Amino acid sequence: MENIKKWYEYLENCNVCPRKCNINRTKGERGYCNSGYNIKAALASIHNWEEPVISGTRGSGTVFFSGCNLRCVFCQNYDISSENKGKEITIERLAEIFIEQQQKNVHNINLVSPTHFIPQIREALIIAKNKGLKIPVVYNTNGYENVEMLKTLEGLIDVYLPDLKYFDKKYSLEFSSTSDYFEKTTEAILEMRRQQPKDVFNSEGIMEKGLIIRHLVLPGCKNDSFKIIDWVKNNLGTETYMSIMRQYTPMYKAKDIKQLNRKLTTFEYEKVTDYFIEKGMKNGFSQEKMSATSEYTPIFDLSGI
Ligand code: SF4
Repeated sequence: MENIKKWYEYLENCNVCPRKCNINRTKGERGYCNSGYNIKAALASIHNWEEPVISGTRGSGTVFFSGCNLRCVFCQNYDISSENKGKEITIERLAEIFIEQQQKNVHNINLVSPTHFIPQIREALIIAKNKGLKIPVVYNTNGYENVEMLKTLEGLIDVYLPDLKYFDKKYSLEFSSTSDYFEKTTEAILEMRRQQPKDVFNSEGIMEKGLIIRHLVLPGCKNDSFKIIDWVKNNLGTETYMSIMRQYTPMYKAKDIKQLNRKLTTFEYEKVTDYFIEKGMKNGFSQEKMSATSEYTPIFDLSGI
């Protein structure tokens, strides 16, 4: 276990994520993620459209955090990630939200875009667990994480659900303004696997412990997807759970980028899922074509916050 500092000390010279902005969030300064001292969240809801081992029959208890340390040009949730819509809440209130979600009989708590609030979320999870939070906690992240910060979450997160978006830095630079996305995210995923080395399911088929890597196939990027699959196979093995997503829809700034201003073709998506199978990967989730619609984007009306 890391030598853990007080939660607010991590914000004083913020290196919570690989951006390493070195600004003081306790004094009102803001870095790339546009997040301050207080947690900001936009929605606590029951989500039925995650992978079946996460959503099950009763849904996943999502908490969507505002702000983002990646801010991809195609983000479906740009109104909360880039435009920072949401409501500031205390750590104690976040702990209550976790308990309220559990009372709705959901399968798990699902922290969506939590990275830039790791110190505060850690505190809230400790409070909530002391008050009876028992269901698994899912850490649903864009993957751009600091290993040192992930280590502070050891023992508090049951299921890691990271994206692995890009292999080639030309894509990460153009679409998410970072050249070290692949390097940092793969280091983070190896740490997640270290913390949760086995995939464990309950009698309802819900994942209680483990790792699922998500990869959204982008238009014109299928060769990049092949390299992502190769990395997972070579570093984590063919049993690793991967979710190959086809829900890409041109939104936000993607409408101004020629390559991204179209939906994915069936040909592109099937090339990637075929490659996944050819490589001997055994545990995959795929998505229907109908998932590529904005209807699946939640409405961030501050419900449950
Ligand atoms: S969490 Fe935000 S302020 Fe801190 S390093 Fe990352 S982007 Fe910068």
